Amino acid sequence: MAGLRQKIIRGGLESLYFSGAYVALKPFAAGVGAILTLHHVRPPRRDRFQPNRLLEITPRFLTRVVKYLRRSKLDLVSLDEMHRRLSDRDFSRRFVCLTFDDGYRDTLQYAYPILKEAEVPFAVYVPTSFPDRLGELWWLVLEAAIARNDHISLHINGRNRTFDCATVAAKRALYEEIYWWLRRLPTEDELRSVIHYLAAFYQVDIAAFCDELCMSWPELAELAADPLVTIGAHTVNHQMLAKLPQKAVRSEMDLSRSIIEAGLSIRPEHLSYPVGDRTSAGPREFEIAAELGFKTAVTTRPGVLFPAHREHLTALPRISLNGEYQRLRYVRVLLSGSATAMWSGFRRLDAA
Ligand SMILES: [Zn+2]
Repeated sequence: MAGLRQKIIRGGLESLYFSGAYVALKPFAAGVGAILTLHHVRPPRRDRFQPNRLLEITPRFLTRVVKYLRRSKLDLVSLDEMHRRLSDRDFSRRFVCLTFDDGYRDTLQYAYPILKEAEVPFAVYVPTSFPDRLGELWWLVLEAAIARNDHISLHINGRNRTFDCATVAAKRALYEEIYWWLRRLPTEDELRSVIHYLAAFYQVDIAAFCDELCMSWPELAELAADPLVTIGAHTVNHQMLAKLPQKAVRSEMDLSRSIIEAGLSIRPEHLSYPVGDRTSAGPREFEIAAELGFKTAVTTRPGVLFPAHREHLTALPRISLNGEYQRLRYVRVLLSGSATAMWSGFRRLDAA
C-alpha cells in the first residue's frame, strides 16, 4: 500500500512538472511563502528495509535544494522574520523557512555546515525528553523489532496474532500494518504500552535511540549559539496532543518551553506539534498554543502560506522534504503550491 501511495504521489508530481501545469497554477496556488519540514539529513543507508526513509534526505540533496533556493527569487528567512512578514502583510517577496523536527544529531553534523556556509537561517524544534534521554522514538522500536526477527507476535484487538516477516516485502507490509494500527489507537498510553511490550520481548533498547540519534543539551547549546538558529518547542514527550486531555496538552507545551529555557537560556516562541497531522493537532491545540503566547506553531498538514494565515499563526501548514522524493523538480512543484492545492481541492486554509 505504501508503495502504491508513493507511486501515485510521485506520478502526480511528475505530471504537474512535465505538463507545465505547476507554472500555470503558480499565480493562484503559490501563496506568499512556505515552511519546509526536515527530519534527518545523513548519508544514505543500503538496507532494503527502511520504512522510515521518508524522514531522511541526504546531505547532497540538501546542498542542491539550498543552491536552488538561493538562485530563486525567494528570501530564506527565520521564523521570527516569517512572523513579522505575515503580521505586517509584507509580501513584497516570497519567502521560505527551513525547519527541522526532533533535534537529531545529524542536524548538527550534516545539515548545519551546509546551511552555515550558505548563511541560511533555520529552526530546530526540540522535544525535551530527547536531550533528557527519556524520549521514546517508538517508530524506530517497531522498525528494529521487525528488521531483526522473522516473526512478530502481538496482542491485537483482544487476540494473540503472529505475523510472518521473514522477507523484505513482508517486513514492509507488516510495518505499515502495525504502524497505522498504532497510530489509530485512541490513546498514546495504549500505543506506548504496545511499544514497551515489543521492546521488552524482542530486546530493543528504547533509550539507546535517543543517545545514538538525538542531540544532547551541550550539542543543542552549540547550535543555539549561532544567530542563524532558532530553537523551537516540540513538547516534552512527543505525543499526539489531540489524544491527550486538555491539561496535559497545556503542560506538554508550556513545560517544554520552560525546560528549554532552563537548559539553553532561550525561551522558545515557536512550536511544532508532534506528528502534526489532523489526528495529532486540531483546533483545541491551535487555541492552547495561541493562549500560551507562542508566536507561531506548525503542523505537518501540507500547504504553502497565504496572507490569510495571519489569522491562524498557530495552525501553519508545511511542505515536507520527503526522502522518498529527492528530486529538485518535486521541490519546485511543491513550492509552486500546485500539488498541495490539488490535494486540498484548492482550499487555501486548513485550520479547523
Ligand atoms: Zn517530531
